[in-house]
Amino acid sequence: MTGLIAQAAEIICRSNMTLALTGAGISTESGIPDFRSVGGLWSRYRPEEYATISAFVEDPEKVWMMLREMDEMLSASKPNKAHLGMGELEKLGYLHYIITQNVDSLHQAGGAENVIEYHGHSRSLSCLRCGNRYTAVEKRGEYLPKCRCGEILKPDVVLFGETIPTEALNRSFQMASSAHALMIVGTSAVVSPANTIPINAKQNGAKLIEINTERTHLTDSVTDVFIQGEAGEIIETLVVEVKKTAG
Ligand code: NAD
Ligand code: ZN
Repeated sequence: MTGLIAQAAEIICRSNMTLALTGAGISTESGIPDFRSVGGLWSRYRPEEYATISAFVEDPEKVWMMLREMDEMLSASKPNKAHLGMGELEKLGYLHYIITQNVDSLHQAGGAENVIEYHGHSRSLSCLRCGNRYTAVEKRGEYLPKCRCGEILKPDVVLFGETIPTEALNRSFQMASSAHALMIVGTSAVVSPANTIPINAKQNGAKLIEINTERTHLTDSVTDVFIQGEAGEIIETLVVEVKKTAG
């Protein structure tokens, strides 16, 4: 593994524009389950049944059972070594943007500033009827958060079946087209259209570094350096290696 981390550090040090794409796997070490984690939230609330916009519109009270548990878990979570390491890489000037599919705000808690939240975030809630918006903090005490118009509010996370926020979509496409290196961390890269980012970056000549506990469909197709294991330990070592390589 050490040789692979050295190769990744070399790519990062040579790149003038390094981008990262992260997914649920970067936050499992913070105690937030990904879609595959056994016995986690998603084994009790199937995403196809609870995390879709049609489910929310049809029965918001039912979807709020899942949202309530998710909110409790996210608000208690702390950034792990992977988030902190990426925050440090950004501060050192070796990581320019992070595109995350996560809604947990842990990259920002880990010190990163240039974060594109591809699937929105859970810091605010909106009314689908009148468009009013509220902070999650002001609504946290309410069992079923409601708008002043009476409608049940929806967190500003992108549910399956909803469109990606236009700015996040456009900026991600633009970043992927100009990146020299792309770190892909803890994502199965099957959720569309986020899964087009690695392909787009590769077609534009970027070197792809993939960090995952398991191989994915990217590993044998577009990945240049695959580092298998837990993101926390790997990224912590990678930061040390980047500093060493940069001298
Ligand atoms: P996914 O659940 O489909 O895949 C997670 C990937 O991470 C898997 O390939 C797994 O092998 C890998 N992984 C798990 N633990 C890891 C670790 N410690 N180190 C490195 N890799 C690890 O997740 P996805 O691709 O992000 O797609 C699921 C969708 O659901 C996304 O939109 C995601 O943001 C959302 N989601 C978000 C959260 C969150 O905000 N933390 C949690 C669950 C799901
Ligand atoms: Zn309203």
